[in-house]
Amino acid sequence: MTKTLSVSAINNGTVIDHIRAGQALRIMKLLRVLDSQKNKVTLGLNLPSKLLGLKDLIKIENRVLTNDEANEIVTFAPEATINIIKDFEVTQKINTHLPKAIINIFVCPNPVCITHNEPIESHFIIQEQGKHIQLICHYCEKSFDRDKVKVII
Ligand SMILES: [Zn+2]
Repeated sequence: MTKTLSVSAINNGTVIDHIRAGQALRIMKLLRVLDSQKNKVTLGLNLPSKLLGLKDLIKIENRVLTNDEANEIVTFAPEATINIIKDFEVTQKINTHLPKAIINIFVCPNPVCITHNEPIESHFIIQEQGKHIQLICHYCEKSFDRDKVKVII
């Protein structure tokens, strides 16, 4: 018998698997999962993973992610696999790539950045340096590690 994870299967929606452990809550915020929608969400934290050691997992019922949303996710979880489920079957695996820029999602960590005082959307350029992903603010041109940048709430 094969062992299966005790995370219930979903009927329709999106499964985001192989999220680096510790990034799931950020991705939930990024997708505004808990804001307005009342979708049923199953969250798995620190699950064993051959690839990552430990991984997080998110299942969102009755929501299909767009390619843009999927690309924003891989900024924080480069190994993430994103599958669309219909009638309990995987109907689509979204092929992700790192976006060039992310607009109006993150807060610039620089306290004197103009984005804090002017009604303008934040704008970060995404830059990959080996395994490190840096977000560079379009306005103050400062560069931040991806783990330092918070999602606008
Ligand atoms: Zn800035």
